[in-house]
Amino acid sequence: MTRPTFSIDPADVPALQHWLSEQDSDPAHPLRPVEIDDILIGPDALLELSAVLRRAGATYQHPVLLVIDETPMRRERDDLKELAQALLRHAGYRVETLRLRGDRYGLVHADFDQVERVLQAIAPGMALVALGSGTLTDIVKHAAYLYDQEHGGRVVYVCCQTANSVTAFAASMAVLLKDGVKRTIPSRYPTAIISDLRVLASAPAAMTLAGLGDCCARFVAYGDWYLASTLGLVDFYSEVPLALLANLDAVLLAAAAAIGQRSHEGEAVLARALLLAGVAQSIVNMSAPISGTEHVTSHVLDMIANHYGHGLALHGAQVGVATLTAAQLYQQFLDTFDPRAVNFDTCYPADEPLQAHIQQAFAPIDPSGAMARECWHDYSQKLALWRRNRPRFAQFCADWQTVHHPKLAALVCSPQTVHAILTQAGAPLAPRQLEPPISPEEYDFAVRNGHFIRARFVLGDLLYFLHAS
Ligand SMILES: [Zn+2]
Repeated sequence: MTRPTFSIDPADVPALQHWLSEQDSDPAHPLRPVEIDDILIGPDALLELSAVLRRAGATYQHPVLLVIDETPMRRERDDLKELAQALLRHAGYRVETLRLRGDRYGLVHADFDQVERVLQAIAPGMALVALGSGTLTDIVKHAAYLYDQEHGGRVVYVCCQTANSVTAFAASMAVLLKDGVKRTIPSRYPTAIISDLRVLASAPAAMTLAGLGDCCARFVAYGDWYLASTLGLVDFYSEVPLALLANLDAVLLAAAAAIGQRSHEGEAVLARALLLAGVAQSIVNMSAPISGTEHVTSHVLDMIANHYGHGLALHGAQVGVATLTAAQLYQQFLDTFDPRAVNFDTCYPADEPLQAHIQQAFAPIDPSGAMARECWHDYSQKLALWRRNRPRFAQFCADWQTVHHPKLAALVCSPQTVHAILTQAGAPLAPRQLEPPISPEEYDFAVRNGHFIRARFVLGDLLYFLHAS
């Protein structure tokens, strides 16, 4: 039996660009081109680093700025950071190494201070190499973006991913902390991406499993995006990202055991899935194809971790667990939603009680009220749109059996599929299996309140409005 594969190989960038150029595009929201020159996936891809830099136009007259953090990293028996420096020097490049310092736990945060640190280190003619996982990638990516904005042109920026942990590597957006809140902002693509399988297989197992969890978001997030679009809460919906990620469930199901075993084959499948997921959100310039209910749940877990006196679990690990919960909620909704039983008059709560509800929910977490205010700022816009589009919900109910039920059932994966993928890889399935473990009380809070934290409509909003009376 042949193994299922993706219809597009992200490592074949010209084929990816050609495929995109052939897709139908909404003239009001044209698809964004993929501005990546080179993607290398292979057991020795890192050894091509200097060749990739030369192809990108990096000259020997100017140093290469290698950005790293303080985390020890290996490529099998070698020290990865020393190896990367040696590879560049042997090829004749001068190397300037910028080591980003972490907090008291040694953890680097993707914030604007770190971006500024990198930005200040860039001199004219330099090429940038980011050697790290998601956080470091987002910092260097955004520094390159700001440098381009300030100076014109396009600085060479090569992303060497050191773990299969998130979808950030091939994304043209960056997730940065602004006043402690995660915000997705426009940024830029890397000039090239190097996904070395020996490096990826040498990263901690939990990071690979987190990457698998982050990919699974697609299985529920697309249902959220469809719901938002059909109910009039977002003005743009496209299934091109869905086509790009076609077969994701079959591919991950077939590869889950190999991913869990950290084989090169498993890491290669996951690298392709993560890179395609990064491109999938970038072509529509929004994270919606791979970020819905499960991501807001994970974001709330991050927001409340400090209150519960522990550090953060890996983003993708939380997303995987939350995807399973969201898939269960979708299954329940598909099985039980009866449009004839909807009492429309109770589905449109007024501002005041909802604002009070959000204040009350977040007060124990943040007594200053700032968190609740930030949530209400986004949520109140969603609420206004929901009210304004009441006829769309009536139409949705009228067309439920013939149109929306079958459509949602096709877009969203069953909890059994998500469960099988995570189980076969050995990924966390429940909040208590996360590291650090998350209590049922915390998790329940995140599931119930996730939809309050941002403007994008998700299933949790609809469920809340249906039971608002
Ligand atoms: Zn994510």
